Amino acid sequence: MSDQKRVLCSSCDIYCQVLAEVSYNGAARIKATDNAPFRANICMKGVHAPEGFLHPDRIRFPLRRVGERGSGQWERVTWDHGLDDIAARLSAVIAQYGPEGFAVSASPWNLQSDNGVGRRFMNLLGNPNWMSGVALCAGNTGAINRMVYGWFPYPDYTKTKCIVLFGHNPRKHSWTPVYNSIRAAQQRGAKLIVLDPRRSENASLRISGFRCGSVLMRRCAWVGLKLSLTKVFTIKTSLRGGRQGLKSFALA
Ligand code: SF4
Repeated sequence: MSDQKRVLCSSCDIYCQVLAEVSYNGAARIKATDNAPFRANICMKGVHAPEGFLHPDRIRFPLRRVGERGSGQWERVTWDHGLDDIAARLSAVIAQYGPEGFAVSASPWNLQSDNGVGRRFMNLLGNPNWMSGVALCAGNTGAINRMVYGWFPYPDYTKTKCIVLFGHNPRKHSWTPVYNSIRAAQQRGAKLIVLDPRRSENASLRISGFRCGSVLMRRCAWVGLKLSLTKVFTIKTSLRGGRQGLKSFALA
C-alpha cells in the first residue's frame, strides 16, 4: 500500500513538480509528474532525494559535543535544551562584543534550512553579518537585475529568438526545466550563444558556430569580445603559472 502526493522537489532551487509515493513502511519514491508540460522536468537529484532525506548519517536531532573537539563524540539533546544552550552562548557574545559580534553563513535557498528565519533573526538583532551561498551566485544576479530592470525577470523561453548562456550550463540532470526549455526553444529555431570558461554541453548543442584564434590575456578575459548573434562562441580560460589564458573555440 502506498500514498501518492503531488509535491515540489526542493533538492535544488528550481522546485520541479514531482510525484512522491510513500509506502506505509516509510519507503519513498519520487517520480515524474503526470502533468504533461512538466513531465520531463525531473533529474537524478530529485529521483534520489529520499536516499538523502532517509540517510542514517543525516543529522535529524540536536546533538551536543561531549568529547574533545574532533573526537566525534556527541549526545542527543532535546530541542529546548539545544536552543537554550545556543541562546545563552550567543547572549554572552552579544553582551561582550555587541550584536555584530558574530556572523552566520547559510544557504537556505538551496538547502531549505530555514526559509529566511535566520536572516530575520539577524535583522532583529541588528546584525548585518549574514551571508549565504546564494549571495555568491543568484544574489548578485538579483541585485544587478533590480538595478537594471527594477525586478528579477525570468527569460521567456517560449518566445525568445536568441538565448545567451554566459558561464551557465543547465544540464539534463541539473536545472532540468531550464535545459528542457532551451532545447524546446532551439527546436522552434531560436539561436543559442554560449560563453563559458569550460567545455559546455550546451555549446555542443548549439545550432551554429565557428572557431577563432586563441589569445593569452592577463586578468580580464572578457574585454573586447564581440558577439555575433548568428554565431556560437565558447571561451576557455586556463590558469597556468599565474597567467590567465583565453581561447575561443570553433564549434562548427
Ligand atoms: S532540477 Fe532536479 S533537483 Fe532541481 S527541483 Fe527539479 S528534480 Fe529537483
